[in-house]
Amino acid sequence: MTKRCGALLLLLLAYGVGFAEPAPSSWAITNVRVVDTRTGTVGQPVDVELAGGRISAIRPAGSSPQAMKKHDGTGRFVVPGYWDMHVHVNGNDAEKWMLPMFAVAGVTGVRDMNGDCFWASDCSESMVSMRSLQRRLESGEVLGPRLLAIASAQVVGPRGLGDDAPSWSAPGNAADARRMVHESQKRGADFIKPYTSIPREAYFELLRAASASGLRLSGHVPMSVNVVEAAEGGQLSIEHAVTPALDCSTYSDGLHERYARWAARESEEGNERGYYPKVLASFDSARCDKIISRIAKTRVWYVPTLLTRRFEARSDEKAFREDPRLRLVPTDVRTYWTDDADSQAKLFKEKPEQKRAYVDFYELGVRLTGKMHAAGVPILVGTDALDSYSFPGSGFHDEMLELRKAGLSNAAILRAATLSAAEYLGREAEFGTVEPGKAADLVILNADPVQNIENAAKIEAVVLNGRLLARAERQRIEADVARFAAKLKATAE
Ligand SMILES: [Zn+2]
Repeated sequence: MTKRCGALLLLLLAYGVGFAEPAPSSWAITNVRVVDTRTGTVGQPVDVELAGGRISAIRPAGSSPQAMKKHDGTGRFVVPGYWDMHVHVNGNDAEKWMLPMFAVAGVTGVRDMNGDCFWASDCSESMVSMRSLQRRLESGEVLGPRLLAIASAQVVGPRGLGDDAPSWSAPGNAADARRMVHESQKRGADFIKPYTSIPREAYFELLRAASASGLRLSGHVPMSVNVVEAAEGGQLSIEHAVTPALDCSTYSDGLHERYARWAARESEEGNERGYYPKVLASFDSARCDKIISRIAKTRVWYVPTLLTRRFEARSDEKAFREDPRLRLVPTDVRTYWTDDADSQAKLFKEKPEQKRAYVDFYELGVRLTGKMHAAGVPILVGTDALDSYSFPGSGFHDEMLELRKAGLSNAAILRAATLSAAEYLGREAEFGTVEPGKAADLVILNADPVQNIENAAKIEAVVLNGRLLARAERQRIEADVARFAAKLKATAE
């Protein structure tokens, strides 16, 4: 027994996901066709030269220097690395499984949506460790995507105030909201993540104080306000396909009003659950069109994370729950996912009408994502990775298929996955297209993604900050992750 434990410990110490070797100073992908993410067109074969983590030149095929190290791109396509704009990589051993799995799937950038916490003793160093992770990812010490932006703690209202926590950490009024913005900025958050239970007064002051400090709000639309108020008030991105579906129903007016009173502690009623059937029954398509056209006039971005609605709808289905990719998920996380699915399944068993409602609500979310896109609201690809059955990396490709279901063209999805995300962060000078001077974060594909977005997952190799992750290395990384996931299981048993 002791011997076995010793061996396990050694294995744990020896384990680590990293690059096999450093990148050569310069090299080229030869005879490859570049996919233009602006126009959705594919060019003639070229040589793409890389040096110092950047694209140094693009020359006619066959013309890069003889002596240069080469990777044959014949018959292949190259696109910029994908950016997953809604992930949770704070903690949960992300370095050991989530981050490498993003890289394997061609995801070379992520926006973290919960990077900090303010008062609990076990996470007071959160922002410091996230900044350190960001540096280690950038240098290649940890294998994974760039950590592009780190959110504040998820901002809740006084209903979520922790024991012994200061009132500003769950702001209920304007003064608390100002303090929250100040503290978030002091700690170095890149943006403020609103969550569900913020009262109206605190929310509108958060918007105002944040923009005065050069920060923006990106996250949930709190239940005490409607989506038009959030978009017109200046929230930069709205997440999850609960929005705008909720506000397309006449039922939502009273729902928001009652919730706002509850959130502000003016009433003990109002935190209503199980409202999807009522929302669906009062769906008003003329109202919905008006809402979407008002949203489209603002500069808000939409991150529907359709996978999260799909999980809710399908959580009781055997085929959905027995996903073979679960072997890449550590046991503690898998248990959390299973429990989450079990509680949905229990609800559906007790109230079969809820199953229908969740399926309809998910499908409505898909449909309205298409309408938002058609109205001109810029869409970003976000998976909510770490959330139940949202697999880091491969889940990004699932979400792209959801966007196809919503009616986005292959070119529009590819743009959302690359250039739009760079534009959202104001970094399109460095990322988002395959052009000289831009970062050497690339995905080399075996088939054309503009013809079929499923081809975006037919990856021959990934280039991360100028380093090539060829097929064998990607397989090795995946095997390492599977071993890590299984090992936690052995430890737990
Ligand atoms: Zn999330």
